[in-house]
Amino acid sequence: MFGFFILKTPKGGVVLPPVVDLKKCTGAGVCAEVCPANVIEIQNGKAVVVRPEDCIECRACEASCPNGAIKVP
Ligand code: SF4
Repeated sequence: MFGFFILKTPKGGVVLPPVVDLKKCTGAGVCAEVCPANVIEIQNGKAVVVRPEDCIECRACEASCPNGAIKVP
């Protein structure tokens, strides 16, 4: 299940960072590998959005996940 959120950046911008469905995530790590902004890390076998403010909403993580476990609003 996905619950999206809107993040306001320190510079006043707005970003819609990805959300991970932990029930679907297998920790494959493809999302972390393809992310050009290093937004995602694998921690304890799950994808974690560690730097949501850096997300450029390119959707590479969403497109690359083999399990449909990550969504970008
Ligand atoms: S949308 Fe792009 S920048 Fe944002 S977390 Fe996914 S791969 Fe990284």
